[in-house]
Parts: sequence; C-alpha cells; structure tokens
Amino acid sequence: MTVRTRIAPSPTGDPHVGTAYIALFNQCFARQHGGQFVLRIEDTDQVRSSAESEQQILDSLRWLGLDWDEGPDVGGPHGPYRQSERSAIYHEHSEQLIAKGHAFRCFCSAERLDKLRAEQMANKQTPGYDGHCLHLSEQEVAQRVAAGEPHVVRMKVPGTGVCKVQDMLRGEIEIPWEQVDMQVLMKADGLPTYHLANVVDDHLMQITHVLRGEEWINSAPKHILLYRYFGWDMPQLCHMPLLRNPDKSKLSKRKNPTSIIFYQRMGYLPQALLNYLGRMGWSMPDEREKFSLDEMVEHFDIQRVSLGGPIFDVEKLAWLNGQWIRDLSEQDFVDAVQTWALNSDYLRPLVPLVQSRVETFSELLPLAGFFMTGKLELDPAQFAHKKLSQDEVRQVLQLLLWKLEALRQWDKEGITASIQQVAEGVQLKLRDLMPLLFVAITGQASSVSVLDAMAHLGPDLSRFRLRQALELLGGASKKEVKAWEKLLADFASAQ
Ligand code: GLU
Repeated sequence: MTVRTRIAPSPTGDPHVGTAYIALFNQCFARQHGGQFVLRIEDTDQVRSSAESEQQILDSLRWLGLDWDEGPDVGGPHGPYRQSERSAIYHEHSEQLIAKGHAFRCFCSAERLDKLRAEQMANKQTPGYDGHCLHLSEQEVAQRVAAGEPHVVRMKVPGTGVCKVQDMLRGEIEIPWEQVDMQVLMKADGLPTYHLANVVDDHLMQITHVLRGEEWINSAPKHILLYRYFGWDMPQLCHMPLLRNPDKSKLSKRKNPTSIIFYQRMGYLPQALLNYLGRMGWSMPDEREKFSLDEMVEHFDIQRVSLGGPIFDVEKLAWLNGQWIRDLSEQDFVDAVQTWALNSDYLRPLVPLVQSRVETFSELLPLAGFFMTGKLELDPAQFAHKKLSQDEVRQVLQLLLWKLEALRQWDKEGITASIQQVAEGVQLKLRDLMPLLFVAITGQASSVSVLDAMAHLGPDLSRFRLRQALELLGGASKKEVKAWEKLLADFASAQ
C-alpha cells in the first residue's frame, strides 16, 4: 500500500498557521513512508469561499517550503482537486445512498427546523433533526421533487449504541450514536456538505491516512458510517492536538496573529516558522529545537506527537527565528532581506505614495520606514485628541479594529467605507478620526495617505497595529467590550 495523505483547506479566510501545521505533519508522514501528499481545496461553501483566499493559501504554504504531489495547481491523476469542480461526483454518490436506503430527502423548512431547535434547547435536549421526513412514501417524495420543492438529503443514523472511532494517537474513542445528528449531505442548492464531499474525495483520491485537527473528532462517526454505507475501506484517522494561545485557549486571531502572511510581513524566515510548527506537540528524538524540514522527515514518527495542547507562542517563535537568522551566511542574509521587502513587488506600489514627497532618497526611510517595520514605537501622548477623551479614543480604536477585522475584501474602498461607518457611528467627522489612524498605522501624526498605506500594508499588519495602539492605551475591559459590541451592532443595523 502506498501511503497517501492530504491537506484539505477551505478557502474562506486568511491562510492560517494551523493549516500549515497540519499540512506539515501530513507531508512528513507521507514522505517518511515514501508516499504521496495531496492538496485538495474544499470550497463547497460558495458564500464564504473565494479564489483570492485559495491563492493565498497555496502561496503561503509554498512560501513555507511545503510541497504537494497533487493539487489544483499541479494537477494529478485524481483531479479535479477543487470540490466546486466535482459536483456531479457528489450528486451521483448521494443518489446511490438514497437508492440503498441510507439517506433520505428532507423537505423541512428553515422555520420548522428553527422551531424544533428552539424547543429542544428549551427542553435541554441535544439539538438535532427529529426524523420528520424519514418515513415519507416514495410516491410522495417523487411528487414533491417533481413539483420542484426545495429539499436537502440527509443521512440515516442509528439511534442507539456507540460508535467506536479508532484514532492513531488516541486509541479507541467512543461516541454514542444518539449524539450524532442526521447530517445533511446535500444542501438545497445541490452542493454537498463537508462530510459527504470529504469522505467521497478521500476515497476516490485513495487517501490512506487522514491527519487533521482534533476539532473534527465529533465528525468521525458520520464519516465512519458513510464509509460503511458505501462499502469502502476506512483510511486511518489521526486527530492532531489543536494549537493554543499562551493562556491555553484555542489559537485565535483576537489573541495572536494567526495568518501566515502576518509572519511573512513581519520578516520571519519561512524555515523558522516551519521549524516552529514542527515543534508543536512534536520533538526530535534528541530534543534539538532547530531543525530543517528534511531533518524532520528523516526523524519523523507520528507516535511522538504529544496530546497536551501545543502552545503557539510568538516570543518563542521570534527566538527561534533569531537562531535561524544568526546562522545565515552574509549573502543569504542579504538575499533573505531582499526577498522579504526590498524588492520591486513590495516597493513599486509605494512609489506613487512617496515620489512627490521627497527630494532625496535619504528622506525615504523617515517618511515610509513604517512599511518595513512590524511593531511601532509609540507613545500614548501621541493619541491625545482635541475632541475625544482617552476613553473615547480607546473606544474608537476598538470599533475600528472590529470593523476592519470583519472586512473581507481588503482594498482602499472597503477600508474607507469601514472607517466612515465607525466615524458616523460615533458621530465624529472623518477628519477628526484620521489623526488617530495616522498615529496607529504610521507612527506619525502625518505621513503618506494612510488609507493607501493600510491597503498596501495589508489586513494583518494594519490590524496588528491598531491592536497595538489599543493595548498601549490600556485595552478594553470586559464591560467595555460588551457595551461597545452592542454599539457596533446598533450602528451597523442603522446603516
Ligand atoms: N475542509 C476542512 C478544513 O477546513 C478539512 C477537514 C479535514 O481535514 O477533514 O479544515
């Protein structure tokens, strides 16, 4: 048997360090066994998926030095590798399940399901589908389908007993079937849900080992059942421990930057970030901290993964990055800095912002050095505002941060609209709000156009700096967070 692993990211947001972590372990496992590593894009959620996010994920994983044998960008014998291009396959498999009596069409309206859920919650029951459409006659189903009535396809689930999930790291995990919902497999739009598409593709792509985050453990019973219904062999499952913030909570961008692009822009070396991800729950047999991808593959052993939640600590990462930097030759150092930011791709968009403002190149760094900086040296006094109190300044910064965290399309128009909404929401003129933004983003009271600067700096560094400014001024208390969230919701609905 050839070992085949895969990473199956959904292109619904920033390329996440957690995706790279799981990809790294899948790649090491496959390589160590002389097998293959596949990248598949799970873009069945049409509303949240975007081509831009997919490209960023591919670019970021490549930047880190990961490489897959098959994928949407490299092709391969089991393609297409983008689920949105495989609709017919899922449809066919869903029909097979219906024909075999393992799945059924459900015509329940969203209102009915909402009501059911509310009742279950009120009665302290586990929310789940009640089987309303389970026993419709074939004739009725055929009539309603012919009449074009919208419906989904759900899988049947045993009501009693326990499902035994075999996990490579955790051994046998028991999950009672009554906790497993009659999962929707095909949505009313004719597209599959994650569960159906994932199982069908893992089978058709001949995946032998599924290494994925532990948040998927509860989905395993549904998957096991689907393999059984189709009569297919199960791949081995291995649920990796989730990355955590230093306070042990699940790694989240509210507490730690999670986008790979952030670390790229901050000037981390890809080898160092990959090395650090390899230290998440895993260690070299000799416990050395600095190692390359090749060394990791050479010594890889999945059983050395420890299940205690690995902490993604930016300070430790920075320390490790420093080790990598010190070991670079002088020429490699120069090359790495050029690749980082001193190159045409990064500098060219800055030219229109600075060209008319300098007389000599030596003025460039004082004017635009913040494009090459991560954390800014700021003084709280810089945020003194003629119309706003300190508390109001913090409030504005927090509202801006939230608005910009929610912004999906990061461009000048989107940024401007978000800022305007905050200004209107707190009844402030835009020109009174801008000075705060200038200081937070550029570190100076005036500079090149701050909106252009934010567009070029990108969402990660821009949000990071707003957060930095807010924290410098004392952050927001729990009470304030609550009150300001409400304010944000109120003015968002008024707009
Ligand atoms: N698309 C899922 C994700 O975004 C893949 C989960 C899995 O590996 O099964 O994480």
